[in-house]
Amino acid sequence: MHIGVDIKGKILTDVKDAIKKFEARPDIKTRFGEPLIGYADSRNPIFDMYFSRTICDHPKRIYRPGNTVVVHFVPFAPEITESNRGGEAPSEDWERAFNESMWLSMRLNGVIREALDTVGRLSSCTNTPTDWNEELCREEWSHKLAAFAAGMGEFGPAGCLKTKNGFAGRFGSIITDGQYAEAFETLDSDQLEALYQKIQRQYAYQEAEGVTCSQEMIKACPAGAISEKGIDRKICQAHCKTIDKYIPSPEVCGKCFFY
Ligand code: SF4
Repeated sequence: MHIGVDIKGKILTDVKDAIKKFEARPDIKTRFGEPLIGYADSRNPIFDMYFSRTICDHPKRIYRPGNTVVVHFVPFAPEITESNRGGEAPSEDWERAFNESMWLSMRLNGVIREALDTVGRLSSCTNTPTDWNEELCREEWSHKLAAFAAGMGEFGPAGCLKTKNGFAGRFGSIITDGQYAEAFETLDSDQLEALYQKIQRQYAYQEAEGVTCSQEMIKACPAGAISEKGIDRKICQAHCKTIDKYIPSPEVCGKCFFY
């Protein structure tokens, strides 16, 4: 009997090794937690829902032969997350982790693509590191929406994704022609609409119906972007732009992610 390569096992091992090597570099100070790898089927209608509501590009539009989105999440060490709680400006550790984890994420894309190559699979990257559309206040491609489709967590304020290994860290993804995702539940259009509404409520953006924000969360925002009715994403983006002019994503601030 022929037993094939355990490609998911190999990907996880290779990712863990790459993180260890990255942490050992003398120029890297950030420490990371246990990574998570998720697999989402690009034929899942949830991606069509994202695409038609213009909240995320479709994996098949990025890479036609792609059947699976492989999502990786590397959490920051807990003390880095805690260092960013409260205050006006992001902590020094948080800012450094944001930048260093971006380099790590690019490396992990390479590691996963090399692993897939060993079993003859094709693959493609999903976005550029500076993917951000200021008109839409979002990325063209959302690793987190792909992670949600892969069942890796639920959303929180300003689009953070709460995984079993925390909300603070770096998501990345690649698309492959291999088929590695679990079978997905086929939702009808009413169910997809309900899911869209649920995601919008979890984001706590003020355009969504039924959003209420606590006084603690309102006070935690250094930009005054949060009211009881939700987050004003333009005010949030303008504030985040003062921290990172190329990627004015809520990630660079993250003060509301704790709620
Ligand atoms: S400015 Fe910071 S705290 Fe305020 S909504 Fe944006 S990410 Fe959250």
